[in-house]
Amino acid sequence: MNTMSETIVLYDGYSEMNSDDEMSANCSCTLITGPHNVIVDTMTAWDSELIINGLKKHNISPNDIHYVVSTHGHSDHVGNNNLFMKAKHIVGYSISHKDKYFIYPFDKGEEYVINDGVKVIPTPGHTMAHVSVLVTTKEGTVAIAGDLFEKFEDIENPDMWKDAGSEDPIQQRKNRSKVACLADWIVPGHGPKFQVTDQIRDALKKQASE
Ligand SMILES: [Zn+2]
Repeated sequence: MNTMSETIVLYDGYSEMNSDDEMSANCSCTLITGPHNVIVDTMTAWDSELIINGLKKHNISPNDIHYVVSTHGHSDHVGNNNLFMKAKHIVGYSISHKDKYFIYPFDKGEEYVINDGVKVIPTPGHTMAHVSVLVTTKEGTVAIAGDLFEKFEDIENPDMWKDAGSEDPIQQRKNRSKVACLADWIVPGHGPKFQVTDQIRDALKKQASE
């Protein structure tokens, strides 16, 4: 059995202002394969065909998915959770299957372990019940970070993640620094995957202490 997990970004997220009161945005959608198939953030409700086709390229059907993780409950991150009827659903701090809810102490800082190489960790800030997924892969640890990171450019320009909405900027700053220390790669909520350098870790550490 293949015990090493792999992360495949099916679609890169994006966000841009079209005018003063309208923006275009969709989230990064990531597939994790290995001992469990996991899909992280399921885009908007209009993207079901896109997701089914993206999975098909990797010979996976929605019924092969064991876990759906929505990093938080915003509409562009939960839009197609109902494609995955066999999966356990983790939406922020809420874990469920059908009408059964499994109480879990994410709010006490507890990590939820899916398997040896995949865990869901609480990273509040953007929303108070925001989670990220850490995956051990051949290329190092990949953090699928949802809107903890808006995009690579928000490291140099923190207004980008704050303007995207933050329920608790102080915690978000701390968790951005923490995740950068744990990860070699980050998949942000609304931009392409990027590599974490020591320079990035230093910058985020400094921002967290401000
Ligand atoms: Zn988002």
